[in-house]
Amino acid sequence: MSSDEHAMLELYVLDAVDEMERRRFDKHLRACSTCRQQRDSMREVLADLSRMVAMPAPPQLREASSRDGPIDAAARQYCAG
Ligand SMILES: [Zn+2]
Repeated sequence: MSSDEHAMLELYVLDAVDEMERRRFDKHLRACSTCRQQRDSMREVLADLSRMVAMPAPPQLREASSRDGPIDAAARQYCAG
């Protein structure tokens, strides 16, 4: 195995490889348990991320982002004083 193939893992999981690279990496995956494990955990992370993106923001978070943050308020006070 070469380190080139290990570097391709992220691209492979993100589906950013072409057909030839995918086949090459598939072959590497069959031989390399390290990459298989990393691929599985990366896919879990990606699945979590896409669930988070698909979920609407909780109401308290939306409210907080529409209000002035504590830094803004402090900056205004500093400027006014
Ligand atoms: Zn590997």
